[in-house]
Amino acid sequence: MTASRPIALFDMKAQQALIRAEIDRRLAAVLDSGAFINGPEVRELEAALAAFAGCAHAVGVSSGTDALQIAMMGEGIGRGDAVFLPAFTYTATAEVPLVLGATPVFVDVDPVTFNIDLADLEHRIALVAKEGRLRPRAVVGVDLFGLPADWPAIEAICARHGMFALDDAAQAFGAALHGRRLGRWGHATALSFYPTKTLGCYGDGGALLTDDADRAELWRSLRTHGEGKSRYEVLRTGMNGRLDTVQAAILLCKLPLLEAELAARAKVAAIYADALGGAALQVPSSLPGADHAWGLYSILVEDDAARARVQEAGRAAGVPTAIYYPKPLHRQPAYAAAHLGAISPGPLGGPPPLPVSEMLCGRIMSLPMHPYLTEGEVARVAEVVRGAA
Ligand SMILES: *Cc1c(COP(=O)(O)O)cnc(C)c1O
Repeated sequence: MTASRPIALFDMKAQQALIRAEIDRRLAAVLDSGAFINGPEVRELEAALAAFAGCAHAVGVSSGTDALQIAMMGEGIGRGDAVFLPAFTYTATAEVPLVLGATPVFVDVDPVTFNIDLADLEHRIALVAKEGRLRPRAVVGVDLFGLPADWPAIEAICARHGMFALDDAAQAFGAALHGRRLGRWGHATALSFYPTKTLGCYGDGGALLTDDADRAELWRSLRTHGEGKSRYEVLRTGMNGRLDTVQAAILLCKLPLLEAELAARAKVAAIYADALGGAALQVPSSLPGADHAWGLYSILVEDDAARARVQEAGRAAGVPTAIYYPKPLHRQPAYAAAHLGAISPGPLGGPPPLPVSEMLCGRIMSLPMHPYLTEGEVARVAEVVRGAA
C-alpha cells in the first residue's frame, strides 16, 4: 500500500481549505465592525439556519448544552419535574435537567437504532405518574449519531401526557424524517456547533429551532439575562447564552457546504455498509423514512475483546477509532444517585434495568466519518475492521 495522509476520525482541515478565503473575508468584516456581540452576522445566520431546516425561527446560543438549558428554562422546568431521556447519550443531555433542579429519568434505547425505546419510555412515564412524587414534564429525544429518533411517536406520547418534546439534535443537523428536516419535530430543537458536529464552528456555539414565535422570543430574552424590550429591564432569570458574532461568521461560510457534505457522508456510509457486510458486526441501520445525517459511523462488534482488537489493529494501521459511549449515564458517578432516586424502591421496585444501554456501551465503536474521506480511505478502514473484528 502506498504511503498516504493519515486518516482522520473527523477532518476540519480539508473543509477549511475550500473556504479559507471566504473565512478570512468574513472574519475581517467582524474585526472591522467591532460588533463582537449580537453583530449582524448572528441575525443573518439565524435566518439561514431557519431556511435550511425549513422552520420559522432559529435563535443562536452559546453551545448545544446551553440550547438545551434555555429550552428547558423557557418551559419553567425545575424542582419536582421528571425529564425523560435516553441512558445512552452524551452527558450534556442529562446534565441540564439536574442543573435546573429537575430529575432526569433514564430510558433504555433500541438495540438497532440506538435511539430512545418507546415502550420503555411509556413504562417509565407510567411509573413516575403512578408514584406521584415527580411530575412527568418533558421528553428529550436524542438523534444519536445523526439518525432521527422516532419523532411522530415521541410527539404522540408527549401530547398524550401534556409533556414538552425537546429534540437534542446536536449530532444530527441536516437529518430529516418523512421529508421534514430536524428543527420541525417536537416543540423545540437544540443544535450544537461544536467543531466536530455536522455543522461546526471554531469554538463553542449552538442554536434553538422552532416554529413557535413565542418560544423564540422567550429564548432571545433568556440568552441575554432575561432582558425585556429595553436592555435595562430584567423580566426573568436568564443567563449569558449568546452566540459570538465571530462564530456566526464562521458558520455562514460553512453552511453553504452542508448539503453536499451530507451527501458525501451518506456515500461514505454506503461504502462502509458494503465493505463491512457479512463481517461479524452490526452496521448502522436507518429508520423507515429517515435521512441519516451521519454525524458518526458507529458499529457494534461481538464484545469488548473484539472492540479492543479492532482498536489495536487501527492504531497499528493509522486508523483512528473512538468509543461513544463507554458508560451509560445512569452508571456515571454524577448521575447514579439521581437515577436511583427517580423511581423509588418499595412498591415500584426502583428504576427498571437498562440492559440495552449497558450492552451497547460494551460493544459500540465509531469509525472515521467525515465528508472528505476518499473511497480508498474508507476501504482501508473497512479492511482493518474486517480483519480484526
Ligand atoms: C455535543 C452534544 C451536546 C452538547 O453540545 P455542546 O455544544 O458541546 O454543548 C448535547 N447533546 C448531544 C447528544 C451531543 O452530542
